[in-house]
Amino acid sequence: MTTQYIFSFQQGDGKNKALLGGKGANLCEMTQIGLNVPPGFVISTEACLDYLQHHRLPDGLMNDVRHHMQEIERTTGKTFGGKSQPLLVSVRSGSAISMPGMMDTILNLGLNRETLQDLIEATGDPRFGFDAYRRFIQLFGKVALGIPDEKFDAHFEEVKRQAGIKADVALDADHLKEISELFLQVVREETGRPFPEDVYEQLELAIKAVFDSWMGRRAVDYRREFRVTEKMANGTAANIVTMVFGNMGNDCATGVGFTRNPGTGANEMYGEYLVNAQGEDVVAGIRTPKPVHELAKEMPDLYRQLSELRNKLEQHYREAQDFEYTIERGVLYCLQTRNAKMNAAAMVRTSVEMVKEGLISKERALLRINPELLEQLLHPQLDPHNKIPPLAQGLPASPGAACGKCVFDADTAAMMGKAGEAVILLREETKPEDIHGFFAAQGILTSRGGKTSHAAVVARGMGKACVAGAEDIRVDVRSRRAQVGEVLIHEGDIITIDGGTGLIYLGEIPTVAPTVSEELQTLLGWADEYAELKVHANADTPEGAKKALAYGAAGIGLCRTERMFNAKERLPLVIDMILAEDPESRAAALEKLFPIQREDFVKLFTAMAPFPVTVRLLDPPMHEFLPSEHQLEDEIQALKKYETMIKGQRVTLETLSGHLTTLPAPFDLLNEEVISKAIAKKELMLKKVRDLYEVNPMLGHRGVRLGMSYPEIYKMQIRSVLEAAALCAQQGLKIAPEIMVPQVITAEELKRVKEYVAEVRQETETRYGLTLDFKFGTMIETVRACTRAGQLAELAEFFSFGTNDLTQATFSFSREDAENKFLPLYNEVGLLEDNPFEVLDVKGVGQLMKMTAEFGRHTRPGLKIGICGEQGGHPQSIRFCHHIKLDYVSCSAPRIPIARLAAAHAKLLEHEFFNHS
Ligand code: ADP
Ligand code: MG
Ligand code: MG
Repeated sequence: MTTQYIFSFQQGDGKNKALLGGKGANLCEMTQIGLNVPPGFVISTEACLDYLQHHRLPDGLMNDVRHHMQEIERTTGKTFGGKSQPLLVSVRSGSAISMPGMMDTILNLGLNRETLQDLIEATGDPRFGFDAYRRFIQLFGKVALGIPDEKFDAHFEEVKRQAGIKADVALDADHLKEISELFLQVVREETGRPFPEDVYEQLELAIKAVFDSWMGRRAVDYRREFRVTEKMANGTAANIVTMVFGNMGNDCATGVGFTRNPGTGANEMYGEYLVNAQGEDVVAGIRTPKPVHELAKEMPDLYRQLSELRNKLEQHYREAQDFEYTIERGVLYCLQTRNAKMNAAAMVRTSVEMVKEGLISKERALLRINPELLEQLLHPQLDPHNKIPPLAQGLPASPGAACGKCVFDADTAAMMGKAGEAVILLREETKPEDIHGFFAAQGILTSRGGKTSHAAVVARGMGKACVAGAEDIRVDVRSRRAQVGEVLIHEGDIITIDGGTGLIYLGEIPTVAPTVSEELQTLLGWADEYAELKVHANADTPEGAKKALAYGAAGIGLCRTERMFNAKERLPLVIDMILAEDPESRAAALEKLFPIQREDFVKLFTAMAPFPVTVRLLDPPMHEFLPSEHQLEDEIQALKKYETMIKGQRVTLETLSGHLTTLPAPFDLLNEEVISKAIAKKELMLKKVRDLYEVNPMLGHRGVRLGMSYPEIYKMQIRSVLEAAALCAQQGLKIAPEIMVPQVITAEELKRVKEYVAEVRQETETRYGLTLDFKFGTMIETVRACTRAGQLAELAEFFSFGTNDLTQATFSFSREDAENKFLPLYNEVGLLEDNPFEVLDVKGVGQLMKMTAEFGRHTRPGLKIGICGEQGGHPQSIRFCHHIKLDYVSCSAPRIPIARLAAAHAKLLEHEFFNHS
């Protein structure tokens, strides 16, 4: 064999996770730093890929496996398949990226009728022997032979029922023996063959099964959902580990631990354990485990050893760890460690604290947090003033509040989630098979299992609210309902869960927006020290500006003036302006809008002082401010009917009393004249709407094109910006307004608008007796603007990439049509990697941006350049923006913390940036 496929724990390179998988690499590393890991070896991911490709194990692999097994036999003094002291092993999956519970592991391998007897003799404990045996048959049967759990569970439950036993621990050796026999029979019936007695046959089948689980549906779904690419993880390793037993009596235990609290980040050991149990039991949520601090009382010496293990792990990995351990007859073994998955709040807190403890550097503190994770911190919490009493309480397993319709299985959750409904998945316990239900649910609630149960771990990873082990809830999946005391919860009933407290409520409880914690501020302060990109906000109102400031915005990168027009009391004025037949009457309408806009800007500039505020002149086509043609036609028709009716009334009254000249009171209010005026106005609007009709309005009369046809609109807007600036200056405020022109294609457009600006500036400066300080610039959102950037920069002091329009223009996609029709398919079948409207298309749009920046800066070296499209808040896009040396990104307020952290990442990781050009 030329390629080395197998590495013993003494030998493997603990840094090479791609080759050995995370679990395998860490088993090697822990062994090599002297932690007590049971002997074993790793079969590499390369062997897995080779196997998956050729549908058989690489030549000579099993031979090599034998050699390594013999080495373990020498170290342990036990024999695999042997007479006295039988050696048992686990065969465990583990890829470069941790995918908890998504792939398979088999325990107690090496048991058969003979070795079982030997094991019982060696331990003197038949109960233990049969317990290990029945577990092995079921796990092996399921994983390697494809027999569903239910086939085994049915027998297991039946034996328990007949014996009148509730808890598994109460089963004695005879019960377990009976169960083992029944299980062997299940295997014979299901596979048509007896259970494999040959231990090397068992081992080979198990290795294959572990490799196969890489392509299992669960694992494939998981990788798709979390965008795990082949570059990140390709194939799983198979780890062969000597079995140690947490189920050999009351001086044995098994547990999982976190070196820090993964819910809060507090610097304290956290975790759960079960006495006299095997690994799977803790995670599976079958028995509810005890919190680790109880171990201090129950087994003080082992608790001390465990604390030591915890300290060694942190000192070595310099990262909070999530580890698995087993205590066999008073000896502590470490079976796994990996970087702990924590929620955003805990990540932020541990980052700040580990820097203060001198454990890690600020750079590391920033880099260990994925910027997108911060989004969780912006999740709602339950209103603290809520008076509604909770229905039940479980363990707070993953923080955040969630509310939705209760469902009892993952398929229903997925179905209702797809239909846009908020659902809470309520299960007795969850299994990896339920993963699609997790994706669709707002929150997860289980009635069994602890804080390290499957449900809790997966929910935390996803940042979803989870309450686990709410034991007062009795779940009845078959009749689709649950019961808490007297209260019945039916499928579809609304419940609220609070993953921070573990409380469960019937009905919907109001939630409140989260605040930026002190630790997050510290961390983002560090981010700003490293980042070169500034982060601005897209905001249109003083409230929006305040929110942006609270998140740490260093300016407003995009204020859309049309949003100001849309306010209810202003729309009629805007409509009058649009309906105006000539420049004079349009000017009159604008005159009414002017003081309102000026006031808006005064407030906005004041709120944001001294940071820059970039105001975009009117951008959307005018028809957007008018009702639709269809609506107007309807209204006119109704008015006409009403007009006829009034005429009818009058004729009626006249006929009855030949003397009446006016109508009685109620009809007087809405006389024919009023109605016909209304009709005339609507008809005028309708005519205007028809005049303004465009086949493709987003490519039509909008942006600076409006400024060219209706200079008075742009002039009014410029005047309100500049007068607002003057008013603020008079107050002694230091402000930095910027006027930005949308949809530009030629320098000539910009030149004309700049002339308006010069004219208004002069008037304003004379009127207020001061000199104004502001910038004039352009958006870059047409392809032509990119190619003419050198000329535009002669006039513009700044560029701002409008990457929503620029993406549409580059792809010739209309966003709505693309996202509703073909883009999902393009993403699914791999024609396009991402949705370019969410993630900046570096290869196309990005190249245009790069060229534009070069052209622009060639003309004007100090040209300020930013991006204000939606992609501006996306970490991957931010990295690119840093790379082409933009000055700032602008995004919606809640994404600012993400963008600030991403900007620091972009700087810290700039050496590994991959350029696609
Ligand atoms: P997962 O990746 O799903 O956590 P693991 O391979 O870690 O799967 O194994 C599942 C459970 O079995 C864990 O609790 C682990 O600690 C336990 N386990 C695995 N190998 C051994 C072993 N050699 N001895 C005792 N327990 C083991
Ligand atoms: Mg594990
Ligand atoms: Mg645009």
